[in-house]
Amino acid sequence: MGSIGNSDVSSFKLPKIKFTKLFINGEFVDAVSGNTFETIDPRTGEVITRVAEGGKEDIDLAVKAARDAFDKGAWPRMSGFERGRIMMKYADLIDENIEELAALDAIDAGKLFSWGKALDIPQCSQLLRYYAGAADKIHGETLKMSRDLQAYTLREPIGVVGHIIPWNFPSMMFFMKVSPSLAAGCTMIVKPAEQTPLSALFYAHLAKQAGIPDGVINVVTGFGPKAGAALSSHMDVDKISFTGSTDVGRLVMQAAAQSNLKVVSLELGGKSPVIIFDDADVDMAADLALLGIVYNKGEICVAGSRVYVQEGIYDKFVQKVAEKAKAWVVGDPFDPLSQQGPQVDKNQFEKILSYIEHGKREGATLLTGGKACGEKGYYIEPTIFTDAKEDMLIVKDEIFGPVMSLMKFKTIGEAIEKANSSKYGLAAGIVTNNLNTANTVSRSIRAGVIWVNCYFAFDRDCPYGGYKMSGFGRDMGLHALEKYLHTKAVVTPIYNSPW
Ligand code: ADP
Repeated sequence: MGSIGNSDVSSFKLPKIKFTKLFINGEFVDAVSGNTFETIDPRTGEVITRVAEGGKEDIDLAVKAARDAFDKGAWPRMSGFERGRIMMKYADLIDENIEELAALDAIDAGKLFSWGKALDIPQCSQLLRYYAGAADKIHGETLKMSRDLQAYTLREPIGVVGHIIPWNFPSMMFFMKVSPSLAAGCTMIVKPAEQTPLSALFYAHLAKQAGIPDGVINVVTGFGPKAGAALSSHMDVDKISFTGSTDVGRLVMQAAAQSNLKVVSLELGGKSPVIIFDDADVDMAADLALLGIVYNKGEICVAGSRVYVQEGIYDKFVQKVAEKAKAWVVGDPFDPLSQQGPQVDKNQFEKILSYIEHGKREGATLLTGGKACGEKGYYIEPTIFTDAKEDMLIVKDEIFGPVMSLMKFKTIGEAIEKANSSKYGLAAGIVTNNLNTANTVSRSIRAGVIWVNCYFAFDRDCPYGGYKMSGFGRDMGLHALEKYLHTKAVVTPIYNSPW
């Protein structure tokens, strides 16, 4: 079974928490109500610290600061080159604080410290640099009109943006949203998830140090139904960029429709299929499928939670993936041997365990895992079910934990049909050496990203987002920049044109 790693982690110095207040108009301030809430360490279930609990009044203040910074401030008016220069400085400051930032996400979200240091935090500074390079390359077009008219388009920042982000990638999510909107010249309010407020407040501090003008980035920590709802229904917010559950995405869209019809983009849940064909290298396929469900403890919307294996290699695959899952090390995120930390909080932990119980009751067979591990904290063993069926809850619902459902298929047509039999359409994996199979299946799956012979192959240049009930709009790549720009047409008559 997944084991609790036990090398000494006590030597690691936990970060001192420096920032616990709201960041509005360039200052750290208490919530107007004076309320605070606990943020919990999922390694132990103990309180790390208390953080200001922003509500409607605080959202109003933050939106006012962002509105003033947009309507009268320097940020949207300075050259793209200058914005890019400041964003580069911001990126450098992140790199100077990598260890502390990775440690904050480890204690707040249970994320592996080593992976945070090597991947998550460096990717944040890289995202900033990528969009910094784009900030002075935002162009309109000259139009060929059918009459004597001179016309061109301007690409203008969309205005005040509300970013509502989840807890599974507190740092990456912050910069996936903030970086392109900064480059576009927007001003913004970030509402981090209540489970993971700490690194976002540190990023607010670094924004000020980098020279980002006051009011451009505001961070309001607090709960979704209060702070998040106030932001999505605010009359003076021009756009909401949301990442989270499909249910809350629906509420955000309703709030936008019922208030000022602000522009909305939604990156929502998933139940992504991984399809493994008979010609695949079984060892490689088992590695890939396992990583697809245990990476970040399965707390990732593109987790490969439905694994379809062709009948010719099914038995061999089951044996391999079980061996690998049993050797997977679950343990303290600061332990360099750990491959999987604790689930983010008690709610998630209990929800995942109840899905596992449900899977057993529905008649799926438990191949590995199936229970919590460790004496304290929210650790769960990598769990694999075989004999799963499309109509089972464990196959239909997004579990957001390390729980894989394994199913067998015969033909390529059957694989495509089963893979598409989900309300979600975020990602899919294909493992095959047959180019024609890879191409056919890639075109047939209704999902925003298809990974062929790889999984989680993210890149800042690669757009990312959903089909169907996984949402709409794209993060990452130059596509994300589009989300934060309006197109304005300017038309003038041409008199006495010889043409
Ligand atoms: P998860 O299910 O992964 O916890 P949620 O969709 O609940 O994801 O949360 C994602 C983000 O949405 C968080 O920042 C959360 O505070 C926020 N949120 C939750 N409820 C609402 C709401 N009613 N309106 C706006 N934002 C919300």
